[in-house]
Amino acid sequence: MATATEKPAKKVARPKVQQTQCFIGGKWLDAASGKTFDTIHPATEEVIAKVAEGDKADIDLAVDAARAQFDGGEWSQMDARERGRLMYKLADLLEAEAEELAALETLDNGKPISDSRAADIPLVIECIRYYAGWADKIQGSTIPINGDFFCYTRREPVGVVGQIIPWNFPALMAAWKWGPALAAGCTIVMKPAEQTPLTCLRMAYLAQKAEIPDGVINVVPGYGPTAGAALVAHPGVDKIAFTGEGTTAKIIQRTALETMKRVTFELGGKSPNVVFADADLDAAINGAHFALYFNQGQCCCAGSRLFVQDKIHDEFVDRLQDMNKSRRVGDPFDPETEQGPQVDQAQFDKILQYVEYGKEDGAKLVNGGSRHGDKGYFIEPTLFTNVKDDMRIAKEEIFGPVLSVLKFSDVDEIAHRANATNFGLAAAVWTRDIGKAHRFANKLRAGTVWVNCYDVFDAAAPFGGFKESGLGRELGEAGLAAYTELKTVTVAM
Ligand code: NAD
Repeated sequence: MATATEKPAKKVARPKVQQTQCFIGGKWLDAASGKTFDTIHPATEEVIAKVAEGDKADIDLAVDAARAQFDGGEWSQMDARERGRLMYKLADLLEAEAEELAALETLDNGKPISDSRAADIPLVIECIRYYAGWADKIQGSTIPINGDFFCYTRREPVGVVGQIIPWNFPALMAAWKWGPALAAGCTIVMKPAEQTPLTCLRMAYLAQKAEIPDGVINVVPGYGPTAGAALVAHPGVDKIAFTGEGTTAKIIQRTALETMKRVTFELGGKSPNVVFADADLDAAINGAHFALYFNQGQCCCAGSRLFVQDKIHDEFVDRLQDMNKSRRVGDPFDPETEQGPQVDQAQFDKILQYVEYGKEDGAKLVNGGSRHGDKGYFIEPTLFTNVKDDMRIAKEEIFGPVLSVLKFSDVDEIAHRANATNFGLAAAVWTRDIGKAHRFANKLRAGTVWVNCYDVFDAAAPFGGFKESGLGRELGEAGLAAYTELKTVTVAM
């Protein structure tokens, strides 16, 4: 314990990077090509590790390993209860290493350590534990059919799954995909995002320690158009689960169709966050700030179109502005930091380009809009008002700390405007009128609606998009079902 004269250490120490190779069939291997790529710390732009750059040859090896476990290997013979036990063991190991994993996530992605500790890693553990409980509860049903037959259904694992994830929640996206796949009895080849491969590789190390048989989880770091594309094209893969951009999903969909692979897609959004004048203003202002700026604005479900009813608009904007001014932007290893850097130069440039679009299109820049500091990919919390529905900042996903405020006057108008987008991932409504909240939630074309809250995630609650925000659901029972095939068995009596 710290004495009165000692101050507790402020900054969290940088973790050591340990796993940087491909994890295939339980072995740590260099890429067959011998190539590596750099992963950087976005706050300082320094290279933190050289990571194996997997491509087709490594994917082939990984799919063979996953196939061998699925087609008659130890995993395919294992009791569901035992599968669940190994998953609980993995969750316990993740929990024991939570602090190190949080620091590794912060190092690779740049997100504040307070977020990695409080959100990312706890949700990873919860997700694996939640699906561990499902492993021995996957059931079919009996069906009364005509004639003298006994008819029943079985839910069987879909097979070898290729999983491709983005960089914004690297460990969590891995957990969302491993959890249901393992519970269902599938085997996995995962390709993490090239910006952030480190926590996923560490999780694979822990999976081996948990005695999940070698070859059940394989991780091949590398680039999308090489390693990712090879995974999607591989005839030995039964399903692709992808999280990322819609344009990438469309490329994947075309290739996957060649071998009729199952696909699930979790894609982008431009989520409406609607505040009625009768809302609890303190809660709504905090909620609107959090809905957009959390994770540097790099959330698929970010509340990036903030609709505020005209009567409260000016006060709302003043208070949002104050919050932005006091937001602590800086070193993500400092536990006091609220906002870290964007993940890389490309995202940094894209976001600042949108700030220019906002100004060109006639929105009013109230806060921020520039680089923060002189090193690292930091951007000031940015706030635009006078935003119109047809402006680029109101229509396209920015994926950064740029909030657009739009005014509205009546309830009927706002439902229409909130839905006037090709996206449909999430939405939120703030009001004290519970009847209005439910009626409004019913009208919204979005996979998730939050009422008087935002970004509430639970492994038990399905998540996914309407329209161009996705295909299928992750989490909950629906997420598990997406890793199964339904078989009907009919027996003459
Ligand atoms: P991205 O599509 O560029 O990359 C995602 C992954 O796909 C990476 O691993 C990448 O290497 C891989 N990839 C790229 N091209 C590929 C190809 N041709 N074949 C196979 N794989 C390929 O997306 P991003 O910029 O890394 O991530 C941000 C996007 O992800 C945003 O649009 C965001 O909204 C979305 N996202 C959605 C959710 C959700 O649950 N709906 C969650 C997080 C992020």
